[in-house]
Amino acid sequence: MSIIFDHVTHKYQEGTTMEKTALDDINLVINDGEFIGLIGHTGSGKSTLIQHMNGLLKPTSGTIYVDGEDIMEKDYSMKKLRSRVGLVFQYPEHQLFEETVVKDVQFGPKNLGLKQLEVQYRAFEALKSVGIGDDLLDASPFELSGGQKRRVAIAGVLAMKPNVLILDEPTAGLDPAGRDEILGLISKIHRESGITVILVSHSMEDVADYVDRIIVMNNATVALEGPPKAVFMHEEELKAMGLSVPQVTSIARNLAAKGLEIREDTITIEEAKEELLKIYRRATF
Ligand code: ADP
Ligand code: MG
Repeated sequence: MSIIFDHVTHKYQEGTTMEKTALDDINLVINDGEFIGLIGHTGSGKSTLIQHMNGLLKPTSGTIYVDGEDIMEKDYSMKKLRSRVGLVFQYPEHQLFEETVVKDVQFGPKNLGLKQLEVQYRAFEALKSVGIGDDLLDASPFELSGGQKRRVAIAGVLAMKPNVLILDEPTAGLDPAGRDEILGLISKIHRESGITVILVSHSMEDVADYVDRIIVMNNATVALEGPPKAVFMHEEELKAMGLSVPQVTSIARNLAAKGLEIREDTITIEEAKEELLKIYRRATF
């Protein structure tokens, strides 16, 4: 499912002294099946942008096309849009409310008006795909660990079988192990289901290993976009936006500047290991 932003501007509290332009003439194409990292400093407009993708916010001007259809047309079904574009909010575990895990995950598909058997099947499937075992189905969401709660909340959106999965800062507040677990899970969902995934983060380290394309937002605009390796070449520009390249890229660039034969577009620990081993082998044999 493709999403196109055509000159989209969003102003909060338009016409008041509090007016704030959170999106300023955004042009963007998200292709079917892509894994996108949406990066930007706090306040750059990331959450505002993604809430336009499922119709929660409306553009002040400009047009959004989902699969070629203008979602602001009078007869466009918002209900259909929300089931196709699944949005996992920041700290989604705060929105768990049912008495059991399985009931919580069934809530969305039930609201779609699906038959009970289909609702149950989808809930089991979604919980399985986020690694929540049968032993926890009837537990209260409040008995779960922080990481488990977050996975249940993601399952609740997956159970709607969206074509696009958007996660707003899914690693916020997690320790490094929890962060890796959630990122690994999101990557697995993308790989196995082939749906479009948009991962919002203010950290380059979160997305470097995983995504096909990075979109960098700064000050209500799209400042940079491209494959991670291309985006990370703009270290100085990113710094000026309050962002940094992954530590491993920064180190590789420093070593290259000191004359070592190492690729400057090293972006993962695995690549860095390979590069350093090459240097080691050249030096010893
Ligand atoms: P991000 O998700 O990148 O941190 P947001 O989209 O939340 O950025 O915010 C973009 C800008 O819009 C910020 O300056 C923020 O203060 C402002 N903003 C966000 N939500 C509202 C709102 N409901 N009313 C007024 N201003 C808002
Ligand atoms: Mg945000």
